[in-house]
Amino acid sequence: MRNRNPKAIAALAATALAVALALTAACTSSGVNQGQLNLVSLEQEWQLGQQLERDLAKQLRLVNDRSALAYVNQVGQRIVSQTEMRNLPWKFHIVADKEINAFNIPGGHVYVNTGLIGAADNVAEFTGVLAHEISHGVSRHGTEQLTRSYGLSIVAGLVLGENPAVYQQILAQIVGTGTLAKFSRSAESEADRLGVAYMARAGYDPIGMATMFEELLQRRRSQPGAVAQFFATHPLTEDRIRAVRAQAAQIDRSRLASRDSGYQNLRQRVGP
Ligand SMILES: [Zn+2]
Repeated sequence: MRNRNPKAIAALAATALAVALALTAACTSSGVNQGQLNLVSLEQEWQLGQQLERDLAKQLRLVNDRSALAYVNQVGQRIVSQTEMRNLPWKFHIVADKEINAFNIPGGHVYVNTGLIGAADNVAEFTGVLAHEISHGVSRHGTEQLTRSYGLSIVAGLVLGENPAVYQQILAQIVGTGTLAKFSRSAESEADRLGVAYMARAGYDPIGMATMFEELLQRRRSQPGAVAQFFATHPLTEDRIRAVRAQAAQIDRSRLASRDSGYQNLRQRVGP
């Protein structure tokens, strides 16, 4: 059975403690996603994330290039540091997959496909998608959706290995579709709005999010297979792009970066 061996339990206990300590800081300013009921505790969520990370490592083709991972994690942490979950442990992974996609799973894990790195011309476009996914995590849209689909007691029992069939179903869904859940339009708008703000505060030009979304819409016409997963799970419309541009227009972008050499280096290593 899952997580019944002492080593795994000890590892979970250690994470639980680290998360509990971090939560003391994070919970005091939880202004995100107010009014939405999410009764899965952050501790449960981070434990679930740890299990999923371990199992996904066996089922996805992950990129092990150290310098590429270091760069993606550095950029990811720079955005996370602008969020209310800055004290929790986040981790960024690269999947060797040509589809243009990225996804967030519970517990602060974000996966980006090499196809996305190939399609995003500069660091602002890349961080546009990254910040959007981080925002889904900060807003806890994943566990919210899981709770809606399966009910709280089942989701809470997942980390205890109580519902192995549901756990396997969730794992298979992530591996098969490149996402944990299909998000509503309001969840998408919230992730855009927070993402633009986090990007700008982290020093990246949020116009990159708009140009990346435009690129995705264009690929839907020219190369639909390459963006099918993304569009199946993140409803993307011209309206969203207009909203991102309008929000970006209110920000002083004169000092924000849209290019850096680290990103070009990343593309050479794992891009197209
Ligand atoms: Zn989304």
